Amino acid sequence: MGGTFDPIHHGHLVAAEEARWQFDLDRVVFAPTGRPWQKPVGVSPAEDRYLMTVIATASNPAFTVSRLEIDHEGPTYTVDTLRRLRAQQPGDIRLYFITGADAVLQILTWKEPDQVLAQAELIAATRPGFDLDSLVKQVPGAAGRVHRMEIPALAISSSDIRARVARGAPIQYLVPDGVARFIHKQGLYRTPAASDPLDVPNPPDSPSPSPPGRGIQ
Ligand code: ATP
Ligand code: MG
Repeated sequence: MGGTFDPIHHGHLVAAEEARWQFDLDRVVFAPTGRPWQKPVGVSPAEDRYLMTVIATASNPAFTVSRLEIDHEGPTYTVDTLRRLRAQQPGDIRLYFITGADAVLQILTWKEPDQVLAQAELIAATRPGFDLDSLVKQVPGAAGRVHRMEIPALAISSSDIRARVARGAPIQYLVPDGVARFIHKQGLYRTPAASDPLDVPNPPDSPSPSPPGRGIQ
């Protein structure tokens, strides 16, 4: 399961555990991204995101965290990570990439989408009623390689959690307790990011002030 994990939250964990159970997986490997080329600005330090992922997954014996992407210099691509993961394992393994259904669309913009689908099958977490099938038809080579997985709750997002911290709203029950404590201890997300949801939206016809970014890593 790849992600920025800025921060990791219960949506990620529910999706991972449901995939483990539904697809009878031996292991779920969480791979926090190094410097995500889709979100290059304002992402928290890789080491903080890595530690939060370790804290969140520590209690599940099937969950592990990989440093593959964060230790990689330069931009990382999903297809390369999947190849490296495969190379690290002895023998032939069946590899799945767990993702939210919204992120399936991004496959179209990934490097070598056909190679991604050749390396791994996709498990797309979707809420009941989401029309994944019409999405899959747009991706060449996706038929039979993309599996729908319904999970009950998809409303939690990292961007919403960051915005909540910035305005002092509670994040308890949205993230594991240890992750909430780490966020407060490190002082993460205190400043709202330009790309994150704002506390009070501006009326559509008024010019919006640009809030300070969270800085470039
Ligand atoms: P952001 O709001 O910053 O985009 P995010 O909550 O989407 O963060 P990411 O780290 O970008 O988290 O997501 C990693 C993966 O987890 C993606 O495939 C995404 O679709 C999926 N995902 C995110 N939130 C959920 C959720 N609530 N339930 C299931 N999957 C999720
Ligand atoms: Mg996202």
